[in-house]
Amino acid sequence: MITWLYRSWRRRRLKRRPFPDHWRTILEERYEFYEKLDDEERRPFETHLKVFLWEKHWEGAGGLEVTEPMKVVISAAAARIARKLPLSVYNRLTEIVIYPSHYLHPGEERKVVMGQAHNFGTLVLSWDAVEKGIAIPDDARDTGIHEFAHVLDAESGTFDGTPLLERGRDYPRWAEVMGRHFANLREAPFQGCLRSYGAKNEAEFFAVATEAFFETPEQLKQCAPDLYDVLADYFGVHPV
Ligand SMILES: [Zn+2]
Repeated sequence: MITWLYRSWRRRRLKRRPFPDHWRTILEERYEFYEKLDDEERRPFETHLKVFLWEKHWEGAGGLEVTEPMKVVISAAAARIARKLPLSVYNRLTEIVIYPSHYLHPGEERKVVMGQAHNFGTLVLSWDAVEKGIAIPDDARDTGIHEFAHVLDAESGTFDGTPLLERGRDYPRWAEVMGRHFANLREAPFQGCLRSYGAKNEAEFFAVATEAFFETPEQLKQCAPDLYDVLADYFGVHPV
């Protein structure tokens, strides 16, 4: 209760603080998506971004020193997908750990990881992978978007490919549409408009579909219009 009260008091104060001008310069130089936002979308995006950046704990690993542009770019990915969702969607996440490049998974020396969301509140990212993700904005591959989709998924308490939906009556449609496209992808992993990695499990399916929704929305809408609509309803945005 105390934590909750403190957080909402602090968040109200952070929301009132102006968005720093030099962050806009960082975004204009590094994140193509930012310039495409109209005024109506820019406000919630900037609110999400600044609250996220100021609230989370940032940690460099593997010799990396976290810089302000890194924080702005990573927070922008979080804000981009959640700009129409409540600020509370990232409440469970408290810490972002950044490695310079693809890191080796502890205990599994041969497994190279680009990013990883843990449901206990830490997100581990490779800076190299984040930069590669935004360098090509329309290939449906973006580590930032992918990992933050996992964080949204975990808001419900489990990684099962279903985030918290606004209304109880949204779940049957979500389960039907997502389940059908997931089954299709498992059956024919290289034929649709989604990366085959999404066939791994429901959580990866949601993350891969989210990448496609934000990076290649036209293709997604064309090849899976009902999947596009379900995601548009959840995220509250229409990237087409
Ligand atoms: Zn994943």
